[in-house]
Amino acid sequence: MINRWLVFITCMLVGGGLGSLVGLRTGLALGLALGSFIWLVFDSFWLAHLLRWLRVEQSNETPGVMISPMPKLPGVWGEVADRTRRLLKNRDHQWLEGQARLDEFLAAIQASPSGVVLLDAQGRIEWCNQTASEHFGFDAQRDVMQHIANLVRDPAFKSYVALNDFSGDVSIPGSASTPARPVKLSVHLHSYGKNRKLLLSRDITAVELAEAMRRDFVANVSHEIRTPLTVLSGFIETLQTLTLKDADRVRYLALMAQQSQRMQTLVNDLLTLSRLEGSPFPHISDWATTSALLAQCEQEARALSALLAPHGQKIEFESGPACEIAGVQAELYSAMSNLVNNAVRYTPEGGSVHVSWSLLADGHGQFKVRDSGPGIAPEHLPRLTERFYRIDRSRSRETGGTGLGLAIVKHVAQRHGAELLIESQPGQGSCFSITFPAARVRLIQAA
Ligand code: ADP
Repeated sequence: MINRWLVFITCMLVGGGLGSLVGLRTGLALGLALGSFIWLVFDSFWLAHLLRWLRVEQSNETPGVMISPMPKLPGVWGEVADRTRRLLKNRDHQWLEGQARLDEFLAAIQASPSGVVLLDAQGRIEWCNQTASEHFGFDAQRDVMQHIANLVRDPAFKSYVALNDFSGDVSIPGSASTPARPVKLSVHLHSYGKNRKLLLSRDITAVELAEAMRRDFVANVSHEIRTPLTVLSGFIETLQTLTLKDADRVRYLALMAQQSQRMQTLVNDLLTLSRLEGSPFPHISDWATTSALLAQCEQEARALSALLAPHGQKIEFESGPACEIAGVQAELYSAMSNLVNNAVRYTPEGGSVHVSWSLLADGHGQFKVRDSGPGIAPEHLPRLTERFYRIDRSRSRETGGTGLGLAIVKHVAQRHGAELLIESQPGQGSCFSITFPAARVRLIQAA
């Protein structure tokens, strides 16, 4: 500031000195006026320079970058320019830091498995993450400032908003929901700030499906147990109230034994399933020999065939190369015998069942059961491994089926890294195969 005064005074002195050379009084006065005028011209020139630079910088929309170089100005204007530049730099730095924090925060919300939508006081979308866009079919750019009620038109959501009670959530179908592939969303609104709302959405399709499956499962088990129980209690009542001939009593007791056996088989299958679901995956260090497994299956199949098809079925076993499979012997036997017994049970008398074990060219091991039974229509194939899914209910029950056999096979296959394949056509028999990965199969070297 002192410099400014010094320059001003120097201008006056030089002007006044020169003027006094021309004429003592008027010359001095004119010289002083000229000196101050020259100072004012220079001063205004530098100020204009500074203002022009500030105007240019003000129009700059890229923080952190200056579009024009700072003017080199003398004296106080130079200091003003320098201090302004530093202020601008500090402000830009803070803005960039704030922006980076906001970006990180938004990236974290983007990564959230839940849909997040920020609504203003009027219920218009201010921002939404990618998951919310997928849940509701929003376009994150185009739908900004659109009213949420115009985009989410589900009646349940509308009445949820209208009620203005956001203590709980509401379930609505997702935008990608179709009758074949329903998608269920749980939507919850939370108030925050000045009448703003945070909308959270969660895909609950899998949870709902699991809940529906649990309900179906309980209903199925109850139904399966109720039938033999009703028969049993009927016979018990008859035995208690009537005096029966020995032959009738023996017949009734045999029927009762059959029903209790049915319940026992069902409970055993249920326990097997729950063990399969609850236990850790089998270790690769336990090995089961294929010849022993097939021999056990053959024995059981022949006994079952003698019982169900007294006039005969052609049953063939081809044990193939002697191998070992890494896994739990009991589980492997359960899976294999389920497939073999199904073939025997569903193939009519005179039909054939062919069971084989083979090593494929790529080292995979394959257990295959082919029968000449009724075959299966294509629409049933994807659902066969569901618990209690049966095509021929009466045949299944007559032959002691529980509807859980193929579910057990699928679980065992999964636990051993194997693949269950079902090929069948109505009237052309069926072929069920379990293909084990090469890493789980080894040849037994002859001694
Ligand atoms: P189930 O105890 O009823 O046999 P599974 O889970 O073993 O239950 O089989 C499911 C259904 O698949 C059976 O009810 C039957 O309708 C059908 N199925 C299974 N194996 C065969 C087969 N070899 N031939 C024809 N249908 C079969």
